[in-house]
Amino acid sequence: MTTFETVAPSRFFAAPALDAAAAVYDFLIPANKPWSRVVRKGQILRIIDLEGQQAVDTLFYNAQDTSERYSAQDTIQAQNAPYVSTGTRLISNMGRVMATVVADTCGRHDTSAGACSCEANTVRFGHHTRYMHACRENFIIEVARLGMTKRDIVPNINFFMNVPIEADGRLAIVDGVSSPGDHVDILAAMDVIAVISNCPQVNNPCNGFNPTPVRVLVFDPSVA
Ligand SMILES: [Zn+2]
Repeated sequence: MTTFETVAPSRFFAAPALDAAAAVYDFLIPANKPWSRVVRKGQILRIIDLEGQQAVDTLFYNAQDTSERYSAQDTIQAQNAPYVSTGTRLISNMGRVMATVVADTCGRHDTSAGACSCEANTVRFGHHTRYMHACRENFIIEVARLGMTKRDIVPNINFFMNVPIEADGRLAIVDGVSSPGDHVDILAAMDVIAVISNCPQVNNPCNGFNPTPVRVLVFDPSVA
């Protein structure tokens, strides 16, 4: 029987075609913190997992109309594949391509397991974890800066998070497969707002139990 595991376990190493020195924007997102930025059509967002095994929870919104936003369901369905990697078209809730992953040195990224929250922590790990900062809080803080509310937060991509899907459909969050310096390049097909929570989770292995900074770059091919 063919499972998703046997279809897509390999690490795909795309040649890094863009030199970081050519970036028009360069920012270090501290461990545990949120971030957002407009990435214009034609620009490329690079996310670098500096120390490896760091989940980067990511959402995309149409910068002109934020009611159009990333759809994990449509992305999985359009790809007929459950993971995000090189070539994946990130599809909106209106069925349009928002961006395409054009390079990926890690090989596989989750878009099924969602973002951690205080509520989920309490259910999974016990009531003593209720006070711990979580991705959902980061997203609430960041989308509020953009004029949105928690009702606008949808299922996200977890770059660099390793979530094997078993034959019976069960998910498990296990040790990450990203190495220090692994990166993804995402080419915007429309003006998008990228919203990131640099995941603060310490109760499961998604961050190697040690949240670390990540670096984001923006390349603009129209700027020679
Ligand atoms: Zn998280």
